[in-house]
Amino acid sequence: MTQSPQQRYEALKSMLLLRKKSIEAEQRSSEQEVRSRIGRTLSLTAWAQSMRNKQDQDIEYTLIQQCERNLKLIEKALAELEVGIYGICKRCLEPIEQSRLRALLYTELCGNCADTADFAQQHDQAKQKDEKARVKQNTKPGQMKL
Ligand SMILES: [Zn+2]
Repeated sequence: MTQSPQQRYEALKSMLLLRKKSIEAEQRSSEQEVRSRIGRTLSLTAWAQSMRNKQDQDIEYTLIQQCERNLKLIEKALAELEVGIYGICKRCLEPIEQSRLRALLYTELCGNCADTADFAQQHDQAKQKDEKARVKQNTKPGQMKL
């Protein structure tokens, strides 16, 4: 199935807007939860400020913060979409698969490049493991004695 750039743009835009809506809804419901807890006297901003310095993080506070962060990311993605750089692989500069973007909204690599990146990382980790094993072998308990 081939898709024109216009169709891809529309599809990605509606995907991002849909996600934005659901985050906003989540944020609203968290804020309502807080509102019912703190009452009308305290403003949400004042409440958030008081939470910021707390050691044990309030679950609603964490959720609201997360929503705010995600909304910023969505706004950024939407802005990038407008200038044509959203959903483009940073490595091979090919459009990233839409199914992949749906699962990983802010991914910067296409499936192919991510696979090779994963492979390289695993390879690195395996190498480090080998290195550790080698070091271990060279320092046998017997050799540690003076
Ligand atoms: Zn790529």
